[in-house]
Amino acid sequence: MNLLDYLPGVPDFPKPGILFRDISPLLANPLAFQAAITQLNTLAQQLDYTHILGIESRGFIFGSALAHHAHRGLALARKPNKLPLVSHREFYGLEYGSDSLELQQSSLPTDARVLIVDDVLATGGTIVAASLLLKKAGFTLAGALTLLEIAGLDGSATLSKNGIVNRSLLI
Ligand code: IMP
Repeated sequence: MNLLDYLPGVPDFPKPGILFRDISPLLANPLAFQAAITQLNTLAQQLDYTHILGIESRGFIFGSALAHHAHRGLALARKPNKLPLVSHREFYGLEYGSDSLELQQSSLPTDARVLIVDDVLATGGTIVAASLLLKKAGFTLAGALTLLEIAGLDGSATLSKNGIVNRSLLI
């Protein structure tokens, strides 16, 4: 099974010139979704982590499925004004706009080694912002894991420059 067959590109979404990779067909196929989580778990085993930080919103899907599969705890990095008791906020630029992420107080134990999980790595700005959130909150970063890296946007180089160990299942 080639998982890339389940991640078709949608041209000019959400803006002209962007080729958006759609994860919906992968989620809709139980064999493809299970294969993705099993293979993400194999990659995650290379990184020494105790907890997962899922990035809103598609990172929640893969982060929670992997946390369940790997018997790890889960915390959520959310878009603005969704969480009570926010401890830290980080603004960042996107391939198509800008946004911010927030972390709730006491969402992880103080000795957590955290693996950031998202669906897609594009420029790397989102994962860098999530790593800064974790750093501000005093947690150790174990690395970052994505289902798909979009080639040509230098996302993994950006993560490396920021000292973030990074694995992507597909390119
Ligand atoms: P980055 O910050 O530029 O690396 O963008 C990654 C973030 O944007 C992730 O949270 C993705 O969910 C989202 N994203 C960027 N491009 C795509 C895409 O082609 N398909 C799905 N999500 C995308």
